[in-house]
Amino acid sequence: MDFEKITLPGVEDKRPMIIAGPCSAETEDQVLETAKQLKKQGIKIFRAGVWKPRTKPGGFEGVGVEALTWLEKVKKETGMYVSTEVATAKHVEEALKHNIDLLWIGARTTANPFAVQEIADTLKGHEDIPVLIKNPVNPDLELWIGAIERIYNAGIKKIGVIHRGFSSYDKKLYRNLPQWHIPIELHRRLPNLQIFCDPSHIGGRRDLIAPLSQQAMDLRFDGLIIESHCTPDLAWSDKDQQVTPDVLGLILNTLVIREMNQTTENLSELRKQIDEIDMTLTELLAKRMRVAREIGQYKKEHDMPILQTMRYDEILSRRATDGASMGMDQDFVKTIFESIHSESVRQQMEIMNKIK
Ligand code: PEP
Ligand code: MN
Repeated sequence: MDFEKITLPGVEDKRPMIIAGPCSAETEDQVLETAKQLKKQGIKIFRAGVWKPRTKPGGFEGVGVEALTWLEKVKKETGMYVSTEVATAKHVEEALKHNIDLLWIGARTTANPFAVQEIADTLKGHEDIPVLIKNPVNPDLELWIGAIERIYNAGIKKIGVIHRGFSSYDKKLYRNLPQWHIPIELHRRLPNLQIFCDPSHIGGRRDLIAPLSQQAMDLRFDGLIIESHCTPDLAWSDKDQQVTPDVLGLILNTLVIREMNQTTENLSELRKQIDEIDMTLTELLAKRMRVAREIGQYKKEHDMPILQTMRYDEILSRRATDGASMGMDQDFVKTIFESIHSESVRQQMEIMNKIK
C-alpha cells in the first residue's frame, strides 16, 4: 500500500503531531472553552467524540449531529482542524457535510469488518480526508491490517493508525494492555504508515499519560491523541483519563524527543555486544537442552513420567525470584522459563518415543 503522509497546512511537520480534545462533545460551551484553552497551548488539531460507542446501554451515547455544528464553530473561532469518530455510513455522511477535517475509526468498529466496509464505501469519492484507524479491541494484527486495506481500497491514501491498547479480562495497571510489539510489528509490515499513540485509552488514568507518551516517543511513534477537557472531573465520559489543557501543555513540554543522529558509533558498539550476548544465550540454551535430553534418557530407562509438577513449580518460582533480584520483571522471567521448559519437554518426548 502506498500511503500518503498526513500533513495539514499550518501544522508543523515534526514529531509528535498532536491531536487533543475531550472524549465527548457534551455542550457547546464545554467544546468551545476546551478548544480555546487547547489553542493557547499550541494545539492545532481538536478531537471530540460525537457518537460514543458505550459498552452498556444507558450511558452517555453522545450528542450526535448537533455537536458537529459546535465543531464547525471551533474551526471558525479558533482556526483549529477538527476530528471525530465515525462508525456508520450515516456518521460519515454527516461528518463530511459538516466539514470535519479528519476522521477516526474506533476500536470496537475496527473489530467489525462489515462496519469498516460500510465506512469505506461511503468514503468513496472523498479521497482527501485523512482517516485514522484505531487498533481493534482484541490483539489481532491481521484484523487491524484488514481494516486499513478496506479504507485504502476506497481510494483514501492519507491513512494513519492509532494504538490505543487491547482489552483484557484481568485489569491490571492499564485499562487496555499496550502490547507494544503489535504496533511495532505493524510498523515493520507497513513502514510508511503514520502511527499515533492514545495514552488516555491505554492508561485509563491521568498519571499514566506522561510515561506512556514518552514511551511512544521513544518507540518512534509519529503522533499522540490525548483526551483533554476544560473540567475533567465533570466529564460525561472517561473522566479519570482526561486532563485540563494546562496539564496537557505541561505533559507535552516535558516529553523528550530523541531523534536518530549521526553519532551511531557508540550504538553499533553496543549492538555488537547484544549480538554476542544473544549468541552466548543461544549456545547456553542448546547446552541446557542437551542436559534435558540426558534426563529424558534416564527417565525412559527408569520408567519415569516426563512431567514432574513439583519440580516444575519449584523451577519457575526460584527462577522468577532470582530474576527479580537481578532487576527483571518476575512475570517476564517466568514466561521465559515456561517457554524453555516446554521445549525441554518436547525434546524429552522425542527421546521417550524413540524406538531403540
Ligand atoms: C475515544 O477515542 O473516545 C474512544 C471511544 O476510543 P476507543 O475506540 O479507543 O475506545
Ligand atoms: Mn474516551
